Amino acid sequence: MSEKTIQAVRGMNDILPDEAELWLWFEEVVRDWLHSYGYRNIRMPLVEPTALFKRAIGEVTDIVEKEMYSFADALNGDELTLRPEGTASCVRAVLQHNLLYNSPQRLYYSGQMFRHERPQKGRYRQFHQYGVEALGFSGPDIDAEQILMCARLWHKLGLRDVALQLNTLGDAASRQRHRTKLIEYFGQNRDMLDSDATRRLHSNPLRILDSKNPEMQALIESAPKLMDEIEDDALQHFSTLQKLLEQHDVSFEINPRLVRGLDYYNRTVFEWVTTELGAQGTICAGGRYDGLIEQIGGKPAPATGFAMGVERLLALMQEDGMALPRQQVDVYVVHQGDHASRLASKVAERLRDDELRVLLHCGGGSFKSQMKKADTSGASVAVVIGDDEARSSEASVKPMQGGQQIRVALDDLTKTVNQFIK
Ligand code: ATP
Ligand code: MG
Repeated sequence: MSEKTIQAVRGMNDILPDEAELWLWFEEVVRDWLHSYGYRNIRMPLVEPTALFKRAIGEVTDIVEKEMYSFADALNGDELTLRPEGTASCVRAVLQHNLLYNSPQRLYYSGQMFRHERPQKGRYRQFHQYGVEALGFSGPDIDAEQILMCARLWHKLGLRDVALQLNTLGDAASRQRHRTKLIEYFGQNRDMLDSDATRRLHSNPLRILDSKNPEMQALIESAPKLMDEIEDDALQHFSTLQKLLEQHDVSFEINPRLVRGLDYYNRTVFEWVTTELGAQGTICAGGRYDGLIEQIGGKPAPATGFAMGVERLLALMQEDGMALPRQQVDVYVVHQGDHASRLASKVAERLRDDELRVLLHCGGGSFKSQMKKADTSGASVAVVIGDDEARSSEASVKPMQGGQQIRVALDDLTKTVNQFIK
């Protein structure tokens, strides 16, 4: 009896060729879009010291408490973690290499992120993000630019039904005051808290506001409002941002309950949400994190950024009926006979020199069976080389859409093939 085959880790997906074509297309669009705003690529390791995420994201956030793949390196005992997000690594890299020393930076990265969550539609244990970070900018103009960027991308991708939710968290001092008031308020109503909320009462009372428990909604509704604590500077920042968005006809909804699950945010926070993907409807999220650079050990500097979930974006594109033509080759080379076969592989290389996409038949077989393969390959033409053609340095060109087979000198092959390429 054969051994059971080994499966991929739960929640970590293979992306098969048909789907990968959509990814490639998406990556090209996104890269052009990022470059059109002057963002530059940065690439960080997938593994970082665990301490980085604890310090940046916060000890009592969902990510750090229960979603990280952390382990001790068996060879030297280092405490390591598969990155659950990119901002912390990006800031670490920027500080380590002193990139902020004389000018602000607009940076982006992409790739796998890892979170040990319960796998479901739109929620995986290995997933992909594009992260976009602007470091060293303090004004609302850059917040507006990043939001405008997103709106442009949704338009380019043909996405309908994505809505912007916006909030401000104020600065550290106002959050501290709010926190104290929340602990007081929820403390006075201890008997109405569920177990999550009780646990968070002193560690992270702000997260109680994020609770989805219907029985706690009334209590949450009348909790002290952060908005009442926020200082003028931060309010001014928020109102300028709103004006800028209005000037560009970007509509938004202010959601005072939007707090985000990572500790480093302050002032502007935003999420782009769709109703088409069920519970996993947030396709992009971000905001300002003015305190993070200092927290990771750098000289204080403001920053703002966002991350998009690639799986959710692609799911939404498919939901919206986006279909791509299959990626195809231009030419399928059919050949038979020793001399012809040697020549065929040279001819294929020459066609590729001329920028054509070429599938060279491998594995022998009759002309007829090779032509069948040519047919299903999606190529526009078959180039046929038998010993007869080989002897006279010629090839036959057969348009796959029908039409006469033409015999041409090898020197004229590219020109002839190009006449039939779609
Ligand atoms: P959620 O509320 O859905 O858990 P989050 O607040 O944890 O999201 P962020 O850390 O802000 O998410 O990540 C930014 C984006 O990355 C999300 O908006 C989402 O599109 C995507 N994302 C986050 N976690 C996952 C996951 N486990 N699987 C797939 N995509 C994810
Ligand atoms: Mg999450």
